[in-house]
Amino acid sequence: MINVHSVESLGTYDGPGIRLVLFLQGCNFKCLYCANPDTIEPKTGRPYGADDILKMARNQRPFFGKKGGVTVSGGEPLLQARALIPIFKALKEDGFNTCIDTNGSVLTDAVKELLTYTDLVLLDIKQMDEEAHQAITGVKNHLTLRFATYLAEIGKPTWIRYVLVPGYTDQQEHLHQLGAFVKDMKNVEKIEIQPYHKLGKHKYEALGWQYQLEDVEMNTAEQLTKAKKILSTYGKEVVVN
Ligand code: SF4
Repeated sequence: MINVHSVESLGTYDGPGIRLVLFLQGCNFKCLYCANPDTIEPKTGRPYGADDILKMARNQRPFFGKKGGVTVSGGEPLLQARALIPIFKALKEDGFNTCIDTNGSVLTDAVKELLTYTDLVLLDIKQMDEEAHQAITGVKNHLTLRFATYLAEIGKPTWIRYVLVPGYTDQQEHLHQLGAFVKDMKNVEKIEIQPYHKLGKHKYEALGWQYQLEDVEMNTAEQLTKAKKILSTYGKEVVVN
C-alpha cells in the first residue's frame, strides 16, 4: 500500500502525453514555494494498493495514447519506494508507461529496484548552489546531485525540472552551473523551466503556515527567455512549462 494525498486523472503536466498522476503524501523537503504544502506532513493521506491503481490506469488507458501512462509525484514519492515496487512492476507488466517526479534525495536499494520498472524520471533540481538550495528547501543539495549522477550512470531517461524563482533560483551563475552539470549526461532528454507562481498560497493559510515568498513576483517573460537562453547554450532541449 502507498499513502496517497490525491489523484489527478488525465494530467498533462507531469510527464509525456496524458497521464494518471498520483500525488503521494509526505516530503522530506520544505520548499518555500511548494504548491502542495498539504502533501508535506506524512501523517494524513489515503492508502492505495496495486489493484486500485491498476484499475484506475486501465480505465484511463484509452486516453493515454502512445506516450501517456502513470506518474507518481508528491510530496516525495521515493520515500515510499519499497511499496511502489510491486505497483510499478504490475503497471509495467500491463504495458503502462511509468514515470517518477522526485526531488532526488533518496537513493536506497529499494529506489534502485524501483527505477528498473520506471521509464522516465522527472528530477527536480531546486538549486545548484548548496547554500541557496538550503535556504529554499531546508536541506542541502548533495543527495539530489548524487541521484542525478546515478541516473546518468544507469542511462535512465530523465527530464530535469527547475522552478525559476526570482531572486532565489534565477541567478545567471547558478543557471550556468545547472547547464554545465547536465551537459554531458546523455540520459537527460530535456530541461523544463517551471515558472514561479503563488497558486498554493491559500493552502499555507489553511495550514496556519506563513507564506514566506509574499514579496516575490511571478516571472516576467524576459526573465524566462533569459533563463532559457542560458540553459540552451549547454546543448539540451529547454522548454518553459
Ligand atoms: S520537494 Fe516538492 S513536494 Fe516537497 S516541499 Fe519541495 S516542492 Fe513541495
